[in-house]
Amino acid sequence: MGPGKALARLTAKILNYGQCTPGTLAIAKFTQDDVAFGLAGATRLESLIVRVKWTADRSSVKPLCNELVREFELYAKRKRWYIKRKDVIKRMTVAMLLELEIVRRVGRRILPGPEVCGKCKGRKHRFSKQKSMWFPCVKCKSTGRPFWDEEARAKYCRMRTARWRDTWSPRYRLFGSFVAKREARGLEHVIKRCLRGSYGPV
Ligand SMILES: [Zn+2]
Repeated sequence: MGPGKALARLTAKILNYGQCTPGTLAIAKFTQDDVAFGLAGATRLESLIVRVKWTADRSSVKPLCNELVREFELYAKRKRWYIKRKDVIKRMTVAMLLELEIVRRVGRRILPGPEVCGKCKGRKHRFSKQKSMWFPCVKCKSTGRPFWDEEARAKYCRMRTARWRDTWSPRYRLFGSFVAKREARGLEHVIKRCLRGSYGPV
């Protein structure tokens, strides 16, 4: 795929940002060079997010996670949040990167998280003892893939679901929108610069 076509697909993807299909790598041939060129004006964080998510850049996974943890910890300090477990921000960040599918196949080994649905253990069906029958797994909608709900997030961050819901869930959403905004801004840079750049009309 040429850079022009890749960009057109990337633009379409952004317009549908809310409905991105998990696991698709629509711009697999979008090269590191294209992104490097496009990200020249972006901040380090924006650039790392785009590299990890859109070019599957392994080497940026850890720096991205560290950078986000640093940002979130600073924010927590400013807001004087009471933090019992030291690693909660780190665990929350990893959960978020996996749930938002910023870290996909290549990064999963670097940031390990659940591999399969915790209810059906990836079997896509669950056995009902009462009816002696197998039923489709409702939790993962029979995909067998890990799902993220409040319970799963709380478990990953090693706290009780009630505490997560009351205190951490709103914070998680806040940080999630922070990440989504940075990603959108990073992609805007790529599109604007590449469209105006040396690649010519799409
Ligand atoms: Zn399941």
